[in-house]
Amino acid sequence: MNTVCFAAWIEEITRTVHAEKDRLTRLDAAIGDADHGANLDRGFTAVSRVLAAKQPETTGAMLTMVGSTLIRNVGGASGPLYGMAFRQMGRVLGDTPDVSIAQLCTALEAGLAGIQKLGAATEGDKTLVDALAPAIQALAQSVQDGVKPEEAISAAAAAALAGAEATIPMLARKGRASYLGPRSVGHEDPGAASTALIFAALHAVTTR
Ligand code: ADP
Ligand code: MG
Repeated sequence: MNTVCFAAWIEEITRTVHAEKDRLTRLDAAIGDADHGANLDRGFTAVSRVLAAKQPETTGAMLTMVGSTLIRNVGGASGPLYGMAFRQMGRVLGDTPDVSIAQLCTALEAGLAGIQKLGAATEGDKTLVDALAPAIQALAQSVQDGVKPEEAISAAAAAALAGAEATIPMLARKGRASYLGPRSVGHEDPGAASTALIFAALHAVTTR
């Protein structure tokens, strides 16, 4: 993946987050404060504006820009968390011109580590980590098995979606939803749902 490919991914995230804004907000209305769709829509719209004005020259600079822009424009917990993840990915990629799936996987692992350092959530806490961690595991397994890049990304997207659905019966232990205690059970975590969208967007652009 080069800067053109990353830009296409970011554009696709912006498009689907906008299209799915109401669904994300509905999920957040059930166990949060009904702003997750609006938060991410505002954040990625700002990212697209910055990208349109000046495309960063390296893959690392591009993802760092995405992270910083999300942190600046999203007030909710998801802004700093996703922002941290993209910034960590940018740091790892640096000036790598053509990012392999193995390198993408390493960058995503650094992104997840950043999220966990900041938010202290582990798998099972009913957060976006429950979609992100299995997606990265699926990607890592695919790299190890030597499957084609499209298949690796397809497996990651499927794992993210399954991970998001698996948050439904969980009891929230982190973030706003944790204030609800047992009443958080029976609802999909909005952040896990948006993480699934981010991987679906990657799958969509890599199979074009
Ligand atoms: P806020 O909760 O501040 O309104 P958002 O609604 O934009 O922010 O984002 C909520 C999502 O953020 C949750 O659904 C969850 O996935 C994620 N989240 C919240 N706290 C944490 C945390 N400590 N670690 C990981 N993810 C978290
Ligand atoms: Mg919210």
